[in-house]
Amino acid sequence: MKKTNLFDFTYPELEKTLEEINLPRFRAKQLFDWLYKKLVFDFDLMSNFSSEQKRIFAKKFRLYIPTIEHVAHSSSDSSYKFLLKTDDGKQIESVLIKEKTSSRERSTICVSCMVGCPLGCKFCATGSEIGFVRKLSCAEIVGQVLAILKHAQENNYSQKITNIVFMGMGEPFLNIEQVQKSIALFTSTNGISLSPSKIAVSTAGIGPGIAQFINETGIRLAVSLHFPTNELRSEYMPINKQFPLDKLFAELKKINLKKRDHILIEYLMLDGINDTLTHVKQLQKLVHGLKVKINLIPYNPIKKFRAKTSSPKSIENFVAYLKGKGIFTSVRHSKGIEVEGGCGQLALKNHG
Ligand code: SF4
Repeated sequence: MKKTNLFDFTYPELEKTLEEINLPRFRAKQLFDWLYKKLVFDFDLMSNFSSEQKRIFAKKFRLYIPTIEHVAHSSSDSSYKFLLKTDDGKQIESVLIKEKTSSRERSTICVSCMVGCPLGCKFCATGSEIGFVRKLSCAEIVGQVLAILKHAQENNYSQKITNIVFMGMGEPFLNIEQVQKSIALFTSTNGISLSPSKIAVSTAGIGPGIAQFINETGIRLAVSLHFPTNELRSEYMPINKQFPLDKLFAELKKINLKKRDHILIEYLMLDGINDTLTHVKQLQKLVHGLKVKINLIPYNPIKKFRAKTSSPKSIENFVAYLKGKGIFTSVRHSKGIEVEGGCGQLALKNHG
């Protein structure tokens, strides 16, 4: 009998499967408690099951999550980059970012949804240095979070996580089934138990289906826009040829945003490429009529794309122009740069 990975089951799916083997539904709750609350990944250690039940579980299910191979800690900004290995030997990366302000503490885990990425954005280490290998399963996505939580538990640092973002390797809308399943586990009260508003997916703009997905799940959306015209965008982000800006923005306008919600627009600041007054005017025109927050991201250079980040003055001018038009704008100082876990920097390094 082929064993199924238990981390590939949503809660209702597990209840149904247990019923099929004549086990009561409440056993699903007990199993989920061990896996998602107590972080115990070994049937033998689950004390509220009989030996016979443990034998049945072990016969029917696998318990496998990616294993952590290497952790790099950035002391300057309290981020940790994890190199993980899947059971077929593929490497993926996740980042834990800890932020503390006077009013709140945030622990965000940035997960990957693919090994590599097929979209090949020129400025992105994942797309340009790894290419595309394969999609990740739900268990491999959820497993990144669980492996990091377990690592935190074993190393005595805070296991409380407040946010999950799909901003690592891969395009979520090209692996939507597994991403959706993992979101069900992240938001289930029996699972990781996060509010949908604490979860965000970032897309390079795979047009159809974005609005329906966001409207149904209630999670947040970030769009890696980066360029304000089709000409520029198609040059650096090939996906734009398939889903040009008019199609993308028509889709974004279909999203039902709640009162205090917004769409996050991510915009890399590239010196002389997309950071002039003309560009900021084009950007403002593009987002006009949408509730957005714009996040300007100083560029972190990668090997294959040696553009420079915009000067502080150009960034300042961008911010001033957008704020002058009433658009909430911030500048992200990428967390994790020191360990190359900043935006667009997830490309496996030799950690040997
Ligand atoms: S920026 Fe995102 S969509 Fe583009 S290649 Fe990198 S991982 Fe893929």
